[in-house]
Amino acid sequence: MTTLDPWGAVKIDNYSKLFDEFGISRFDELLKHIENPHRYMRRHVIFGHRSYESVLWAMIFKRPFAAMSGFMPTGRVHLGHKMVMEEIIWHQSQGGDAFLAIADMEAHAVRGKTWKECREFGINEYILSAIALGLEPGAHIYFQSESDPVKDLSFELGIKANFSELSAIYGFSGQTNVAHMVSALTQSADILHPQLKKFGGPKPVVIPVGSDQDPHIRLTRGLAYKMNMFIVEPRGVQPGTFPIDTEGKTFVSVRGKSAPKDALKEIAKRTGGKLYEEHVDILISKQTLEQVESIVREVELKYGGYAFMPPASTYHKFMTGLQGGKMSSSIPESYIALTDKPEEGAKKVMRAITGGRVTLEEQKKLGGEPDKCSVYELLLYHLIEDDNQLLEVYKDCVGGTRVCGNCKKFTAELMREFLKDHQEKREKARERLGEFGLKDV
Ligand code: SF4
Repeated sequence: MTTLDPWGAVKIDNYSKLFDEFGISRFDELLKHIENPHRYMRRHVIFGHRSYESVLWAMIFKRPFAAMSGFMPTGRVHLGHKMVMEEIIWHQSQGGDAFLAIADMEAHAVRGKTWKECREFGINEYILSAIALGLEPGAHIYFQSESDPVKDLSFELGIKANFSELSAIYGFSGQTNVAHMVSALTQSADILHPQLKKFGGPKPVVIPVGSDQDPHIRLTRGLAYKMNMFIVEPRGVQPGTFPIDTEGKTFVSVRGKSAPKDALKEIAKRTGGKLYEEHVDILISKQTLEQVESIVREVELKYGGYAFMPPASTYHKFMTGLQGGKMSSSIPESYIALTDKPEEGAKKVMRAITGGRVTLEEQKKLGGEPDKCSVYELLLYHLIEDDNQLLEVYKDCVGGTRVCGNCKKFTAELMREFLKDHQEKREKARERLGEFGLKDV
């Protein structure tokens, strides 16, 4: 019997390697703690995370947190970018501070775009769509080249990163230009800068990314640790558990190799811990791990450190291309741009590959295969918000009562409406750029 699984199109089987080999945690385990999960969460499009507990904890207890992402202004804004924008917007609606970078330094250094092109693509493609999708004023939208905090931090991060480390991740060789390397560190600075004092200090920050972006996240988490004065090591506390279970556990060790001796002393005093040459051991029964971390951060800030929290990340599945295979910006037929004319978007849906059978007779007998259907994917990721309505589509498809021709027409119409509405909102967004401290081009 076929199992009814309306989220089957986003099965994570192919991603299990990421859990096993790279230590990415399963997002599903956190789902029950999220009050109004985004449809990408409910539908398992977001399948993995690193340290998202810290963000969740902040959301639940109404503490500061942020979400950030960057976009390279080299091409057209499409449905894949929309996913990331929606995730940022959702976190903003949950009380988070939102950061959106236009990675113009990277586009200039790596893709050879002129500053003028970067500016035009940045505003006309990405920023207008982000605002049209619901980003609210208060969000920090910026161009890397215009952000002194990001550029200054990137220089500081450069002291802690070396060539071998960067080349292992980005494939740099002796021929790679230096600006390319700088732009890699600028990305890390983008991720960490919401935690600078100027932006409210250390806090959980989530970076929603596709799974291929994990190396950047790992690099930046590593740099965050290296930049800090102290390393807090919970001994015997299971990482990744939520809420953190400290019952019956022993102690937390705070190491500060390069920290001023007075700072370590202060940590020992404030936590009641035992001071050693380069570390303090603190019995966890005296206070929670979170309290210890909070004291350590306060002391580090007082002594001029950064006290970065390792950035959290969520990983979403990619949409497949409309013609099968991957979406590629060099193949316009493989994706729908948010600036495609509504008619053109609808036509692309009509030409998309489906999970339908070869003949109508077979389709009626065997049912369709929505899990392999790019049209169904459009409904699941973007066009149907109501889970029950989506389940109906799924059931009708696998039950053989839904025919691909009609299903495509239905989806094409939804796409046409979405694009029309989105583009009207983009025009209004242009008039609202000033609310975000931006000028039109
Ligand atoms: S009926 Fe719809 S969902 Fe099912 S395979 Fe055909 S196009 Fe895809």
